[in-house]
Amino acid sequence: MRRVAVLGSTGSIGRQALEVIEACAGSLSVHSLLCRSNAELLSAQAARFSPAATCMLSPQAGRAAPSGTVTGDEAIEAAIEGCDIVLNAITGFAGLRASLVAAALGRPLALANKESLVTGGVLLREHLDAGLVIPVDSEHSTIARCLEGASRPPRRIILTASGGALRDLPPAAAAAASPAEVLSHPTWDMGPRITVDSATLVNKAFEVIEAGWLFPGVETGVLIHPRSIVHSLVEMEDGSYRALLGVPDMRVPIQHALLGASDPRGFAVPDDPVSWPALEFSALDHGRYPAFGTVIAAGTAGGTAPAAANAADEVAVAAFLAGEMPFGGIAEVVAAVMAAHGAAPVERFEDVVAADARAREEARRAIERIV
Ligand code: MG
Repeated sequence: MRRVAVLGSTGSIGRQALEVIEACAGSLSVHSLLCRSNAELLSAQAARFSPAATCMLSPQAGRAAPSGTVTGDEAIEAAIEGCDIVLNAITGFAGLRASLVAAALGRPLALANKESLVTGGVLLREHLDAGLVIPVDSEHSTIARCLEGASRPPRRIILTASGGALRDLPPAAAAAASPAEVLSHPTWDMGPRITVDSATLVNKAFEVIEAGWLFPGVETGVLIHPRSIVHSLVEMEDGSYRALLGVPDMRVPIQHALLGASDPRGFAVPDDPVSWPALEFSALDHGRYPAFGTVIAAGTAGGTAPAAANAADEVAVAAFLAGEMPFGGIAEVVAAVMAAHGAAPVERFEDVVAADARAREEARRAIERIV
């Protein structure tokens, strides 16, 4: 029995992880639950799973947490201590500290929080080298599974991208799209920030950076694949491709990360290839997704640059979702922040925190200039 610390339990990935744990009750159990502030759902989850620890990062006045809930600075340590595996499904930069605690305590890390690697990959290098970072991101989970048993490194890996909710709109109409339009993702069921990031392709640029940490030394490409049936491709030395196909469902990579390759399966997504659409692929239209190139350049620059790009994107996406700025403003804000950012090396967590804070201030100034 593997006891899972479910960090981000009230979010989209966290809720789907709890479904997987219930379906695999003979192999998995809930060790702890941690969320940011959704006290009502956390209480319901605690009543259902009876975890050893219930934790909340930012409790809000007037919302009653379950009795005994650990809050604030000690919450992450309290959730991770005593578990067998950590599922980090916290949204955004806030997830990095949880990944670092998991690494410090030597716990396997099933990582859905790609920002951990984007902003602080260098700080997780020992944990990566030890094979203790297991991707939950569907593309990286696919690539890891395709590489199982491969004796030689691949020639190239290719991340597939749906192109997001706005892929068929003329660029001018896309730039003026509403939050509701952007949030209706065509294929994957995900949280709001990542769904917006899918429409700008910032998510895909982060995934390229993430792949650089998980599969070092391997060239990474991106293709548009609108129906999300092929969950990424691995090009082998002989020019043939390995892929994993199926209906898009995050519970599959979550289960794989928590159970590993050798355990019995507890959960399956029924599907029939007869129902699949045509498997179309096309090259990325960089003009349609200007933020993609900006974030890729930040990844190439390295150091604190990807953390600044992530902070700019988090602030810009929040402003867009709050109705303060048009969709097209997100790429402008990220570009403005990166133009102002002088990248520095990352040696410790505080370096990333400082770069993140500076980039957030710069992003707010950029938003004021836009609106
Ligand atoms: Mg993904």
